[in-house]
Amino acid sequence: MQEIKLRDLMTSEVRGVDRHAPLKKIVESMAHHKISCKLVTENDEPIGIITERDMVKLLLATAADPSMLEHPAEEIMSHPIVTLREDESLYDAMVVTRAEKLRHLPIVDRNGKLAGLVTQSDIAKAHFHVIELQAEMIERAIKEKTVDLEEANAELQAMSMEDALMEIGNRRAMEVDLEHTHAASMRNGRQYCVALADVDYFKKYNDHYGHGAGDEVLRIVAKTFEECMRKSDRIYRYGGEEVLLLLSDTDSEGALIFMKRAIEALAKVGIPHCESPYGFLTSSAGIAPAIVNGKCRATWQEVVEEADKALYVSKNANRNTASAAA
Ligand code: GH3
Ligand code: MG
Ligand code: MG
Repeated sequence: MQEIKLRDLMTSEVRGVDRHAPLKKIVESMAHHKISCKLVTENDEPIGIITERDMVKLLLATAADPSMLEHPAEEIMSHPIVTLREDESLYDAMVVTRAEKLRHLPIVDRNGKLAGLVTQSDIAKAHFHVIELQAEMIERAIKEKTVDLEEANAELQAMSMEDALMEIGNRRAMEVDLEHTHAASMRNGRQYCVALADVDYFKKYNDHYGHGAGDEVLRIVAKTFEECMRKSDRIYRYGGEEVLLLLSDTDSEGALIFMKRAIEALAKVGIPHCESPYGFLTSSAGIAPAIVNGKCRATWQEVVEEADKALYVSKNANRNTASAAA
């Protein structure tokens, strides 16, 4: 942060009075301009200061001797005085005024001529402003760091292989594994099946029970299916409320039996769903094998597409069931 110079802080419309000026003129000037001090100068250089405190003393003296008002300024002025140069800083002014217990600080130019005046309240105001600026800077820096962290987190999430909500493989993991399994299937003729499972009437579930309860259901779905799977099977979040199961060394018949069992297991958990015609939470699935009539499909994407078509057959057949691709 840029250092605040006294020249930016001082009142520059300050005119000094001559050391010989009568005190009466000074009292009148201070009262008229509502100022708390008057600087006494000689050849434009400050040599003394008359403050309100000096005025109180003068008041007492004039009670005894009214002619005091005709005496010269130099008689009651405080001197010598401490001055700072206009290119010195707010910090310098704070140090000096504290050390010397000053309330008024005359500021001089490079040649020692009077350039302005800084009061204790000017210093306090400027210091407060500096603190406010520092607080703003800190706040801004924290915000920037928070954004950086959020971006880094999002990146880490994307790089990771697990879905944070369902705690199963994410889409990235799914693609890597499917690519690998499909290549092996093409090479060795090893069968595998893809099952796409989707929660039934899930939008209605969210709308009725709330999104938080919906999230909890998604965790239960993943856990229930996982418990039905063999060790060599894999499960991934395909997107939204859909999961993909990769069933290695399994034919279409075996996959259908497995998936119907898994769907039944979820229904048996008995999660209430009053907006579903079943009254409890159900799911539907579609199954597709990689090798059909001894021929492997060209890509794993084709296998997933076929499983998706089969899923819609289940959806059209009142849901809560699994269907295999034709
Ligand atoms: P269908 O029986 O035909 O599958 O109908 P549906 O309502 O289940 O399907 P639809 O595609 O209309 O709605 C899917 C809903 O899943 C809508 C969306 O808000 C919800 N959803 C997707 N991801 C999440 C999630 O991470 N958490 C929660 N709570 N809801 C999700
Ligand atoms: Mg869906
Ligand atoms: Mg659904």
